[in-house]
Amino acid sequence: MGTPRETRQEQAEDITERLETEYPDSTISLRYSNRLELLIAVILSAQCTDERVNQETKHLFEKYDGPKDYAEVPQDELAEDLNSITYYNNKAGYIKSACEAIAEKHDGEVPDTMDELTDLSGVGRKTANVVLQHGHDVVEGIVVDTHVQRLSRRLGLTEEKRPERIEEELIEIVPESYWQQFTHLCIDHGRAVCTARNPDCSDCVLADICPSEKSDNEIDLASGEPW
Ligand code: SF4
Repeated sequence: MGTPRETRQEQAEDITERLETEYPDSTISLRYSNRLELLIAVILSAQCTDERVNQETKHLFEKYDGPKDYAEVPQDELAEDLNSITYYNNKAGYIKSACEAIAEKHDGEVPDTMDELTDLSGVGRKTANVVLQHGHDVVEGIVVDTHVQRLSRRLGLTEEKRPERIEEELIEIVPESYWQQFTHLCIDHGRAVCTARNPDCSDCVLADICPSEKSDNEIDLASGEPW
């Protein structure tokens, strides 16, 4: 049976250490070669797989070079260039408007503060955290995506549901030196083993400390529903 460590802090540390051993090369899987490309890739990745985004950005990043290109193109044309991405019309609007602001208010540079980033169209705290961490080497929070959200709840690190609240709790218990890596480790484990619908608890390095482990627990703490 999975028995969590005595405190959430110990649980978070143990999880991080074990996952780091399991996924030593864990890192961001979006492809980009500069900060603007990173920002655009992250905006596109909302409710879309990184794999699909990487396919689409291959030609996108060849066609458009800098914020002015995106700001000046008709929105319909940009949307057409993104048409294999979920919500491509909305995302084309966000990208165009964010690039207009970057060109006009930020001298063509992607801003490096949370406030300025979250002022951009289509950029919430999660996107801003990714851009700060990978574009500016500024780590001031933990990126909470769907995998982090699910695993944190399943593993008993939080009972919160909203990403902002989960992040607030995680930064209290995850060692600061792991704030960036924690996300990538959860994403790798969430893709490989602890999947949303059918986690493979029998082959999980966290099984003995996981309070949702299927063979002994009836409830998936991520959803609060029975397995
Ligand atoms: S795969 Fe199972 S045991 Fe492992 S973290 Fe997910 S729910 Fe827990």
